[in-house]
Amino acid sequence: MPGLQLRGVSKAFKGTAVLDAVDLDVGSREFIAFLGPSGSGKTTLLRIIAGLETADSGEVVLDDRRIDVLGPGERDVAMVFQSYALYPHMSVRENMAFGLRNAKVAPNEIERLIADAARVLEIEPLLERKPAQLSGGQRQRVAIGRAIVKKPRLFLLDEPLSNLDAALRLRTRVELAQLRQRVEAGVIMVTHDQAEAMTLADRIVVFHDRQIQQVAAPMEIYLRPANKFVAQFVGSPA
Ligand code: ADP
Repeated sequence: MPGLQLRGVSKAFKGTAVLDAVDLDVGSREFIAFLGPSGSGKTTLLRIIAGLETADSGEVVLDDRRIDVLGPGERDVAMVFQSYALYPHMSVRENMAFGLRNAKVAPNEIERLIADAARVLEIEPLLERKPAQLSGGQRQRVAIGRAIVKKPRLFLLDEPLSNLDAALRLRTRVELAQLRQRVEAGVIMVTHDQAEAMTLADRIVVFHDRQIQQVAAPMEIYLRPANKFVAQFVGSPA
């Protein structure tokens, strides 16, 4: 079965359970939002999918391949961090090339991938700059560019809009929506912002109390919340 399947994924930190036997199916081209209050385990699950955190039990399967047994670099996923995590001493071009060089991609192929991503994100004039010479919004595009060049099956975005001011946030929201038309991949975005999830996602996954409370299209979540918590969290009409 293509796409991502999580089966019985559990995780505790120092004896405190954060995720308890979580199951989830994500289609191969779906845009999914992980929505829930702070501390509900959204980022932990994203990091488990990325291979940056190890689940205590359960399986992670991507395109019929168990990826939880693979290293982060072998999973065909690309994560965009909330802090962007750009290398400050490297130019934008070098930041985008770094992971590809490590993966032994041929130099001319690296140039082509960077050129393609830079065109899509309209960051061509920025390629020789260092991160310190970029605005917050530009840094964020570079972080997305660094993910795009890997041509992943799945993009993992950790609160991609949270460090942007209100105007830029709106614009970036539109751009993320456009981006997903251009990339042949799924997207999972972590957010605690209901409007962000509602406008961008095909389906929303609501987290609370170590469990997934509901998985459904935005309108479905809003109009037919599975329980009181979901209703309250998304502000459903009474
Ligand atoms: P969310 O992304 O929904 O805000 P997180 O997944 O970041 O939630 O965190 C869930 C819980 O796990 C929080 O209580 C957090 O403090 C805890 N946690 C996350 N990562 C670690 C870690 N590396 N060590 C200890 N506790 C952690």
